Amino acid sequence: PYVITEACVKCKYTDCVDVCPVDCFYEGENMLVINPDECIDCGVCEAECPAEAIIPDTYQGAERWLEINREYAEKW
Ligand code: SF4
Repeated sequence: PYVITEACVKCKYTDCVDVCPVDCFYEGENMLVINPDECIDCGVCEAECPAEAIIPDTYQGAERWLEINREYAEKW
């Protein structure tokens, strides 16, 4: 799946939410998160994010963000 990173904090755009075909964006404490169990890996949101906050979970350093995204997504 794709994960959202700290560049999302304070970002006011929600272009990513609008384009996601499976509606798997949720609100975290101060940023948006992606539910990794619902993301279908389409990559559409990555290109739309003006803050470049969205990365594939295979990127270096993405592991801790995957945990944070999952943690907040599961609160919904
Ligand atoms: Fe949604 Fe696709 Fe982004 Fe996953 S990669 S969060 S399915 S838009």
